[in-house]
Amino acid sequence: MRLTVVGAGPAYGDQPGMLGACYLLESRDEAMALDLGHGAFAGLASRVAPEALVTVFVSHLHPDHFVDLVPLRHWLRYHLPVPGRVRVDGPADLAKRLDALHGEPGFTAVALDVEPLVAGTRAVGPFTLELARVRHTADSFAVRVTCGDGAAGLVY
Ligand SMILES: [Zn+2]
Repeated sequence: MRLTVVGAGPAYGDQPGMLGACYLLESRDEAMALDLGHGAFAGLASRVAPEALVTVFVSHLHPDHFVDLVPLRHWLRYHLPVPGRVRVDGPADLAKRLDALHGEPGFTAVALDVEPLVAGTRAVGPFTLELARVRHTADSFAVRVTCGDGAAGLVY
């Protein structure tokens, strides 16, 4: 499993390149992202085809961790010759939050398949996600990602 730090900045920055959280994980020819914070989409899209992500894991609903799902949604809807869809493993209120941000019911559902986070283990493509609640917002999760290659994995 290979980790690329796309963005690791704070909630705001005063220097170019200080992007919201986004970590790209690749295993063989499949990829997922951990969070997609402000400004991170272009860096992600320059490294992998966004429509090919097996999931975007969203840890919690602070904008520096999820707001670039908006450009991902637009990419899937308008950039591709045939509109695409991407799975998002995120907090239960994620779609409601994005819909409200854009003032458009159904805004999220046209391109993103949100799977609500619950504690436990789930398989997504080649990745195994072990989810556990953590204290931060009312609905925040940590994740341990492994991919069956014998490596220890990554905890986020
Ligand atoms: Zn936060």
